[in-house]
Amino acid sequence: MTEELLLELELLREFGFTHLEIRGPRTADRGSRELLAELEQIVTVCEKCRLSQSRTQVVYGVGNPNADLMFIGEAPGRDEDIQGEPFVGRAGQLLTDIIKAMKLTRDDVYIANVIKCRPPENRNPELDELESCRPYIRRQIEIIQPRVIVTLGRFALQSLTEKSHAIAAVRGQWLDYNGIKVLPTYHPAYLLRNPAAKKEVWADMKKVMAELER
Ligand code: SF4
Repeated sequence: MTEELLLELELLREFGFTHLEIRGPRTADRGSRELLAELEQIVTVCEKCRLSQSRTQVVYGVGNPNADLMFIGEAPGRDEDIQGEPFVGRAGQLLTDIIKAMKLTRDDVYIANVIKCRPPENRNPELDELESCRPYIRRQIEIIQPRVIVTLGRFALQSLTEKSHAIAAVRGQWLDYNGIKVLPTYHPAYLLRNPAAKKEVWADMKKVMAELER
Protein backbone atom coordinates (compact mmCIF):
# COMPACT_ATOMS: atom_id res chain seq x y z
CA MET A 1 0.00 0.00 0.00
CA THR A 2 1.48 3.41 -0.94
CA GLU A 3 2.22 6.07 1.66
CA GLU A 4 -0.27 8.37 -0.10
CA LEU A 5 -3.08 5.81 0.21
CA LEU A 6 -2.28 5.19 3.86
CA LEU A 7 -2.45 8.94 4.55
CA GLU A 8 -5.79 9.19 2.77
CA LEU A 9 -7.21 6.28 4.81
CA GLU A 10 -5.93 7.92 8.01
CA LEU A 11 -7.66 11.18 7.01
CA LEU A 12 -10.93 9.40 6.24
CA ARG A 13 -10.77 7.66 9.64
CA GLU A 14 -10.36 11.10 11.28
CA PHE A 15 -13.51 12.21 9.48
CA GLY A 16 -15.44 9.28 10.95
CA PHE A 17 -15.55 6.92 7.94
CA THR A 18 -15.49 3.27 9.10
CA HIS A 19 -16.17 1.47 5.79
CA LEU A 20 -14.68 2.06 2.39
CA GLU A 21 -15.92 0.81 -0.98
CA ILE A 22 -13.09 0.84 -3.49
CA ARG A 23 -13.97 1.21 -7.17
CA GLY A 24 -12.63 3.09 -10.17
CA PRO A 25 -9.04 4.28 -10.53
CA ARG A 26 -6.79 4.27 -7.48
CA THR A 27 -6.22 7.60 -5.73
CA ALA A 28 -2.55 7.60 -6.67
CA ASP A 29 -3.51 7.49 -10.36
CA ARG A 30 -5.70 10.59 -10.23
CA GLY A 31 -4.64 14.20 -10.66
CA SER A 32 -4.17 16.93 -8.10
CA ARG A 33 -7.17 18.91 -9.36
CA GLU A 34 -9.53 15.99 -8.79
CA LEU A 35 -8.04 15.14 -5.39
CA LEU A 36 -8.32 18.76 -4.26
CA ALA A 37 -11.94 18.87 -5.44
CA GLU A 38 -12.74 15.69 -3.48
CA LEU A 39 -11.19 17.13 -0.33
CA GLU A 40 -13.07 20.40 -0.86
CA GLN A 41 -16.37 18.48 -0.77
CA ILE A 42 -15.44 17.19 2.70
CA VAL A 43 -14.18 20.54 4.01
CA THR A 44 -17.19 22.49 2.72
CA VAL A 45 -19.53 20.67 5.12
CA CYS A 46 -17.05 20.35 8.00
CA GLU A 47 -18.39 20.93 11.51
CA LYS A 48 -15.35 19.72 13.44
CA CYS A 49 -14.96 22.90 15.45
CA ARG A 50 -17.03 25.81 16.77
CA LEU A 51 -16.05 28.07 13.83
CA SER A 52 -18.56 26.19 11.68
CA GLN A 53 -21.31 27.94 13.69
CA SER A 54 -20.29 31.50 12.80
CA ARG A 55 -18.93 31.20 9.25
CA THR A 56 -20.77 32.35 6.14
CA GLN A 57 -18.91 29.76 4.12
CA VAL A 58 -15.75 27.66 4.20
CA VAL A 59 -12.73 29.26 2.53
CA TYR A 60 -10.89 26.28 1.07
CA GLY A 61 -8.06 27.54 -1.15
CA VAL A 62 -7.40 28.68 -4.73
CA GLY A 63 -4.76 28.44 -7.40
CA ASN A 64 -2.68 26.00 -9.38
CA PRO A 65 -3.21 22.39 -8.17
CA ASN A 66 0.38 21.63 -9.22
CA ALA A 67 1.96 24.86 -7.96
CA ASP A 68 5.65 24.99 -7.12
CA LEU A 69 4.88 27.71 -4.59
CA MET A 70 2.21 27.74 -1.87
CA PHE A 71 1.31 30.71 0.31
CA ILE A 72 -0.27 29.63 3.57
CA GLY A 73 -1.96 32.17 5.81
CA GLU A 74 -3.87 32.08 9.04
CA ALA A 75 -7.66 32.29 8.69
CA PRO A 76 -10.31 34.00 6.57
CA GLY A 77 -11.29 37.55 7.45
CA ARG A 78 -14.58 39.30 6.72
CA ASP A 79 -14.07 39.71 2.95
CA GLU A 80 -12.85 36.13 2.54
CA ASP A 81 -15.81 34.79 4.56
CA ILE A 82 -18.20 36.64 2.24
CA GLN A 83 -16.46 35.80 -1.04
CA GLY A 84 -15.26 32.26 -0.21
CA GLU A 85 -11.74 32.97 -1.44
CA PRO A 86 -8.57 33.47 0.64
CA PHE A 87 -6.71 36.80 0.66
CA VAL A 88 -9.21 39.04 -1.15
CA GLY A 89 -9.42 41.97 1.29
CA ARG A 90 -6.81 44.72 1.77
CA ALA A 91 -4.22 42.25 3.03
CA GLY A 92 -5.09 40.02 0.09
CA GLN A 93 -4.48 42.84 -2.37
CA LEU A 94 -1.06 43.35 -0.81
CA LEU A 95 -0.31 39.62 -1.19
CA THR A 96 -1.43 39.82 -4.82
CA ASP A 97 0.96 42.76 -5.33
CA ILE A 98 3.81 40.75 -3.76
CA ILE A 99 3.05 37.81 -6.08
CA LYS A 100 3.03 40.16 -9.09
CA ALA A 101 6.36 41.66 -7.99
CA MET A 102 7.72 38.09 -8.07
CA LYS A 103 6.67 38.00 -11.76
CA LEU A 104 3.94 35.47 -10.95
CA THR A 105 0.13 35.56 -10.82
CA ARG A 106 -2.32 34.16 -8.29
CA ASP A 107 -3.07 31.42 -10.84
CA ASP A 108 0.58 30.31 -10.81
CA VAL A 109 0.65 29.68 -7.06
CA TYR A 110 -1.70 28.05 -4.56
CA ILE A 111 -3.12 30.13 -1.69
CA ALA A 112 -4.80 28.69 1.40
CA ASN A 113 -5.18 29.22 5.13
CA VAL A 114 -4.57 26.79 7.99
CA ILE A 115 -8.05 27.65 9.35
CA LYS A 116 -10.83 27.37 6.81
CA CYS A 117 -13.61 29.26 8.65
CA ARG A 118 -13.55 32.86 9.87
CA PRO A 119 -12.99 33.31 13.61
CA PRO A 120 -15.57 35.77 15.01
CA GLU A 121 -14.34 39.39 14.93
CA ASN A 122 -11.10 38.10 13.36
CA ARG A 123 -9.84 36.90 16.75
CA ASN A 124 -6.79 34.63 16.91
CA PRO A 125 -7.53 30.95 16.32
CA GLU A 126 -7.69 28.75 19.42
CA LEU A 127 -5.34 25.79 19.75
CA ASP A 128 -8.12 23.22 19.41
CA GLU A 129 -9.36 24.97 16.23
CA LEU A 130 -5.86 24.80 14.72
CA GLU A 131 -5.71 21.10 15.58
CA SER A 132 -9.17 20.36 14.17
CA CYS A 133 -8.38 22.05 10.86
CA ARG A 134 -4.74 20.89 10.52
CA PRO A 135 -5.49 17.67 8.55
CA TYR A 136 -6.96 19.74 5.71
CA ILE A 137 -3.92 21.94 5.04
CA ARG A 138 -1.67 18.90 5.43
CA ARG A 139 -3.67 17.03 2.82
CA GLN A 140 -3.66 20.04 0.47
CA ILE A 141 0.14 20.14 0.72
CA GLU A 142 0.39 16.38 0.11
CA ILE A 143 -1.73 16.68 -3.01
CA ILE A 144 -0.05 19.79 -4.46
CA GLN A 145 3.51 18.82 -3.47
CA PRO A 146 4.95 22.34 -3.83
CA ARG A 147 8.70 22.92 -3.88
CA VAL A 148 8.43 25.91 -1.56
CA ILE A 149 5.89 26.99 1.07
CA VAL A 150 5.75 30.56 2.35
CA THR A 151 3.94 30.77 5.68
CA LEU A 152 2.38 34.14 6.45
CA GLY A 153 2.34 35.01 10.14
CA ARG A 154 2.64 33.09 13.37
CA PHE A 155 -0.33 30.74 13.22
CA ALA A 156 0.38 29.37 9.74
CA LEU A 157 3.81 28.20 10.86
CA GLN A 158 2.47 26.99 14.20
CA SER A 159 -0.09 24.79 12.46
CA LEU A 160 2.50 23.13 10.21
CA THR A 161 5.19 22.63 12.84
CA GLU A 162 2.90 22.11 15.86
CA LYS A 163 5.16 24.51 17.76
CA SER A 164 4.68 28.12 18.76
CA HIS A 165 7.31 30.44 17.21
CA ALA A 166 8.02 34.15 17.61
CA ILE A 167 7.66 35.13 13.95
CA ALA A 168 10.34 37.84 14.21
CA ALA A 169 12.83 35.18 15.37
CA VAL A 170 12.24 32.71 12.51
CA ARG A 171 11.28 35.07 9.67
CA GLY A 172 13.45 34.63 6.59
CA GLN A 173 15.02 31.35 7.76
CA TRP A 174 14.54 28.19 5.74
CA LEU A 175 12.72 25.43 7.62
CA ASP A 176 11.63 21.97 6.54
CA TYR A 177 8.16 20.45 6.35
CA ASN A 178 8.24 16.80 5.24
CA GLY A 179 11.06 17.51 2.79
CA ILE A 180 9.51 20.76 1.48
CA LYS A 181 11.37 24.05 2.00
CA VAL A 182 9.37 26.46 4.18
CA LEU A 183 10.08 30.16 4.48
CA PRO A 184 8.18 31.97 7.26
CA THR A 185 7.49 35.65 6.78
CA TYR A 186 5.17 38.35 8.07
CA HIS A 187 1.44 38.29 7.34
CA PRO A 188 0.32 40.99 4.85
CA ALA A 189 -2.10 42.31 7.50
CA TYR A 190 0.94 43.03 9.67
CA LEU A 191 2.55 44.87 6.74
CA LEU A 192 -0.52 47.11 6.45
CA ARG A 193 0.04 48.15 10.07
CA ASN A 194 3.87 48.24 9.77
CA PRO A 195 4.80 49.25 6.21
CA ALA A 196 8.49 49.47 7.18
CA ALA A 197 8.55 45.65 7.40
CA LYS A 198 7.79 45.35 3.66
CA LYS A 199 11.49 45.47 2.85
CA GLU A 200 12.11 42.40 5.05
CA VAL A 201 9.31 40.51 3.32
CA TRP A 202 10.69 41.47 -0.08
CA ALA A 203 14.12 40.15 0.99
CA ASP A 204 12.37 36.88 1.90
CA MET A 205 10.60 36.72 -1.46
CA LYS A 206 13.93 37.18 -3.24
CA LYS A 207 15.15 34.05 -1.42
CA VAL A 208 12.04 32.22 -2.59
CA MET A 209 12.55 33.33 -6.22
CA ALA A 210 16.18 32.21 -6.11
CA GLU A 211 15.13 28.82 -4.75
CA LEU A 212 12.45 28.37 -7.42
CA GLU A 213 14.95 29.23 -10.17
CA ARG A 214 17.43 26.59 -9.00
S1 SF4 B 1 -12.29 25.80 10.89
FE1 SF4 B 1 -11.67 23.87 9.89
S2 SF4 B 1 -12.12 22.26 11.42
FE2 SF4 B 1 -13.27 24.10 12.04
S3 SF4 B 1 -15.30 23.84 11.11
FE3 SF4 B 1 -14.04 25.06 9.68
S4 SF4 B 1 -13.17 23.56 8.25
FE4 SF4 B 1 -13.89 22.42 10.06
